[in-house]
Amino acid sequence: MGTIQFASLASGSSGNCYYLGNEHTSILIDAGLGIRIIKKRFSEFGLKMETLKAILVTHEHADHAKAVGCLGEKHHIPIYATRLVYAGMERNPCLRGLGKSCLRTIEKEVPFVVGDFRIIPFGVPHDSCDNVGYFIECGNTTFCLATDVGHLTETIVTYLCKADNLVLESNYDETMLRMGPYPARLKERILSPNGHLSNKEVAEFLANHYSPQWKYVWLCHLSKDNNHPELAYKTVETRLKTIGLKVGEDLQVIPLRRNLPTGVFYLPERR
Ligand SMILES: [Zn+2]
Ligand SMILES: [Zn+2]
Repeated sequence: MGTIQFASLASGSSGNCYYLGNEHTSILIDAGLGIRIIKKRFSEFGLKMETLKAILVTHEHADHAKAVGCLGEKHHIPIYATRLVYAGMERNPCLRGLGKSCLRTIEKEVPFVVGDFRIIPFGVPHDSCDNVGYFIECGNTTFCLATDVGHLTETIVTYLCKADNLVLESNYDETMLRMGPYPARLKERILSPNGHLSNKEVAEFLANHYSPQWKYVWLCHLSKDNNHPELAYKTVETRLKTIGLKVGEDLQVIPLRRNLPTGVFYLPERR
């Protein structure tokens, strides 16, 4: 299968785009950046657009779907999303007129294959038309991404626990959000079970469900106003220490930067 590479092209409310690929096949999860930035990141990382075989969309919010129209229409790359996510994207001006030929409709918990990747989408609660996470198998390594997570359901936990490498939202520090400048209604939205996931919720999940097979935990979708990469990292590291785990030895925890790319990581083969 060849070594699998992971890269974050950007992560957060101003754009999300994650790359996963080997020398034959690559996919993007979300394309919430301008096409020019996506191409720039590819060339900076030495990645090839020609291997790109799929765009997996989590949900229709612009920070996840901005370049979907362009990648589908102009670059003829198949777009994978649920029927409800398509319905949501049709209302978005930058996606209107997306030709049907590039659309692949997926269903939660129904696996599909793209090149060397076997992919299972699963439901994630969020205030969008629909939202899915992705569990991905390639060779003998597995990967799971869940972003814009209102709360962790049993389904999400099951997929995260099965994976070797995780990308999980760690959106806000609760104190920063509560004390911060956001209007009360927005704070409520973020805190609600259909909003976003906090550093503490991530730390609790990792400590309560720790799996020795976890290699990388990338923290994604960090808020600009209600979080800091160091704070997200510290919250997780401190909690894991209480159960005797050492970040950097037992597992790697890496907060993904909002506007800066983070990568390329080589996913270790399972022994
Ligand atoms: Zn988002
Ligand atoms: Zn969203």
